Amino acid sequence: MSARPPVLPDHLQQLLQAGVQRRARAYRGRFAPSPTGALHRGNLRTALLSWLEARLAGGEWLLRLDDLDTPRNRPGAEEGILQDLRWLGLSWDGPLWRQSDRRGLYATVLSALRRQGRLYPCRCSRRLLADVSAPHGAWAVYPGFCRDRPPRWGPEQGRLPSWRLRSPPGRIRWSEHSALGLCSAAGDLDAASQVGDVVLRRADGFLAYHLATAVDELTLGISAVVRGADLWRSTAAQVAVMAELGAPPPLYAHGPLWCDPATGQRLSKREGSAGLAGLREQGLDGPGVIGLLAASVGLVPPGSRLSAADLLQQVRGGRREA
Ligand code: GLU
Repeated sequence: MSARPPVLPDHLQQLLQAGVQRRARAYRGRFAPSPTGALHRGNLRTALLSWLEARLAGGEWLLRLDDLDTPRNRPGAEEGILQDLRWLGLSWDGPLWRQSDRRGLYATVLSALRRQGRLYPCRCSRRLLADVSAPHGAWAVYPGFCRDRPPRWGPEQGRLPSWRLRSPPGRIRWSEHSALGLCSAAGDLDAASQVGDVVLRRADGFLAYHLATAVDELTLGISAVVRGADLWRSTAAQVAVMAELGAPPPLYAHGPLWCDPATGQRLSKREGSAGLAGLREQGLDGPGVIGLLAASVGLVPPGSRLSAADLLQQVRGGRREA
């Protein structure tokens, strides 16, 4: 991890400091869906679990839309997500945050890092990287082809470069904790061989999700991130960015994924895996859906019917007795 102190504009440094101080004082969780389609039942369960963890800790739960990748956003998805959360009784604290409203903040971080030589332009095409990277399913570690090339900013053959973080050698570490007992192994990865240099600005000009998410967790004072285990490797990339900004990561809990029993594949929004609409068609109401989601991770017996607020009471009660 970087030992060099970050040099950021004052207002940014203050925002980061305030966020890091905030998270040391009180629990603040978040749910951060991308408005790319309707929430599937795995997303709904993640929402429920992160809400539950926040409320059990007596903390806040923020809602943030990860909507930077505009071509992937779907009309109506945002409204659908808000409606689903309300219908389930999962109320969030404070305003709705949208990454698209915070582009200026991410761009300032990006420029500061670039000015200090912590980024380098990369001209490797996706095709080239797909040819040299790990087999399908594994995390592709960037082989560093452009690390030592002279840093030219402008377009070459009509294409702009992407910008990668020059990660210093060392370990990327984070802790996992879940009051509900639903988390993965703590992270402890070698930056160079297991994580690689993360793209912070894509060649198409889009600010990268890892940059935005790392900046958001820190500046919004997020103390605990509860999300699906499919994002465990992404956490390494985000922790690498946080380290570059001089801040340790929040706590994480990467919960289990919900797989389609027919195919064994994890659910995906893109394939339209049945969300609340499908569950309602099957005749389930709010308490039925909460019961189904909670039973799927063993919090209540199968067939339970209860509201989110009742589930909270029940889990709280169970913890007091234990
Ligand atoms: N927006 C991303 C997703 O929906 C990331 C979520 C997160 O960081 O929790 O998969």
